This record gives sequence, C-alpha cells and structure tokens, in this order.
Amino acid sequence: MLSLEFKLVDREQKHEIVGVVTKVGSKVQKFKVGDKVGVGCMVGACHSCDSCANELENYCPDMILTYGVKYFDGTITQGGYSGHHGCR
Ligand SMILES: [Zn+2]
Repeated sequence: MLSLEFKLVDREQKHEIVGVVTKVGSKVQKFKVGDKVGVGCMVGACHSCDSCANELENYCPDMILTYGVKYFDGTITQGGYSGHHGCR
C-alpha cells in the first residue's frame, strides 16, 4: 500500500487542498519529503476491488472522500480544516 502524509499550505482550503509532503510510505515512488502536492476530493480507496485494479478508484465502493467521512484509522476526514492529511 502507498501512503503519504503532508502539511497543508493554506488553512483556507476546503475539499481540494495543497500541501508539502512530510512523510512517505516505503512503496511511494513519485513523491518525497518536501514535495508540494495537491489532493482532490478523495484521499483513499480499498485498492482491492475491480475499480481500483483498473485505476478507477473514484468508482471504488470504499472510496474515502477528503472531507466528512471515516478514514482508515477511524477518524473523520476534515479536508482543508485539518493541519495534516494522509493519502493512500
Ligand atoms: Zn476499491
């Protein structure tokens, strides 16, 4: 599983946000600590269903939105209102 965490650049952002990478998982290849990143309206998916296998995570029945839903760790995503964010 790929994962990264980043700190938001602008706290006024809401569901589509920009930040700087603060931590990356061992399988992350496209990002490194210090990179600027943008995140759309979703931050996670199951990565095991047919949609995810075909790079269509936005159709995943377990898709995790950037704001207002339960994240992998059980917390509720807070979009641009949070200080840090994680993506998988
Ligand atoms: Zn899926």
